[in-house]
Amino acid sequence: MNKTIEKAEQNLLHTYNRFQLVIDHGEGNCIFDTDGKEYLDFFSGIGVFGLGYGNKKFADAVKAQVDKITHVSNYFYTEPLAEAAAKLTEVSQMDKVFFTNSGAEAVEGALKAALKYAYNKDKSNDHEIIAMDHSFHGRTCGALAVTGKAAYREAFEPLISKVNFANINDFESVERLVNDKTCAIIMETVQGEGGIYPADEDFLRKVSTLCKEKDIVFILDEVQCGMGRTGYMFAWQKYGIKPDIMTCAKALGNGIPVGAFLLSGRVAESSLVAGDHGTTYGGNPLASTAVSTVLDIFREEEIDRHVREITPYLESRLDELKDRHSCVLGRRGAGFMQGLILSVKPGDVVNKGLEKGIILLTAGTDVLRLLPPLTIGKEEIDKMYEILDSILAEFDQI
Ligand SMILES: *Cc1c(COP(=O)(O)O)cnc(C)c1O
Repeated sequence: MNKTIEKAEQNLLHTYNRFQLVIDHGEGNCIFDTDGKEYLDFFSGIGVFGLGYGNKKFADAVKAQVDKITHVSNYFYTEPLAEAAAKLTEVSQMDKVFFTNSGAEAVEGALKAALKYAYNKDKSNDHEIIAMDHSFHGRTCGALAVTGKAAYREAFEPLISKVNFANINDFESVERLVNDKTCAIIMETVQGEGGIYPADEDFLRKVSTLCKEKDIVFILDEVQCGMGRTGYMFAWQKYGIKPDIMTCAKALGNGIPVGAFLLSGRVAESSLVAGDHGTTYGGNPLASTAVSTVLDIFREEEIDRHVREITPYLESRLDELKDRHSCVLGRRGAGFMQGLILSVKPGDVVNKGLEKGIILLTAGTDVLRLLPPLTIGKEEIDKMYEILDSILAEFDQI
């Protein structure tokens, strides 16, 4: 593995401190390095492999599309694009969709749509956006501007103007920032990167109502928490609220890079029009086939129901870990998006996990994040429990 790592580091721009592992392939709910070592996957490529590895139906569909044509540009229609758009608007209960290549691009599009919606109303350019502290929306300049972690933003400012940060689950902190220039409120329904903070129902309802009253565009970023991760196709669907714009990516293509932003009819009708927004690759037939097949598999295998059914077991085992180990201070999460709050460095636990054959990740400063494929069952959860139980015992004394 060392040769590969050396070669990569010689040529890649060093923007990541990667694990010292060279991954070779995936199988079921595990990945394997080039030495043949197996790792139980509670990471799923940062929440990308909702369906796990080696789903035959998915692989066959993607391979067949590679042989046909992978790209045509948005000058043309394709059948996979029409199918993917119809299926995604149906499961999301949204009206219109724009396909992107990533989550950050989906956020960019969502922000542009909200800005254009406001511009159409008063023809002014001084609109403001409210975002949340601890949020993460991506690394491009627009998405970065609404990301609630100063360290990610500072070297690149000024970004897009007039973004104000409120606290999730503190409605007054949002209300205080609203004025007649506010054009959008953006948040993750469950904050991922920032530390696994689920927005609570009361907060979501109040923000949703406020947005309706003031004609503010309510944007929910479902890039990480969407696509069945919380036991619902989209996390907001549990709460009887509905965003005006929603973003999606990560698990949408099960490893094929694709994202999307979706709009309500009201916003779609008065925002981006031909010429306002575009992409060369976005929604190409390869990506669209991936989306369309992923959504078929979700429906046929009732993946969201599986997550809902298994979640209480996952939560109870994590709570056992919390009760057994003094270095675990608490648990937060929704569905298969869970965080253990630690008194020790979560990165150290992740590193120990690699030694012992499990892949985990961190969130915020003190959270061990678990994002397993949505296909795991009780057996994998028990295996995770056994490994983590032994690792955490080593950290209890620290
Ligand atoms: C990962 C993530 C993004 C950015 O997605 P990329 O595909 O990395 O650009 C945006 N929002 C949320 C909530 C994310 O978790």
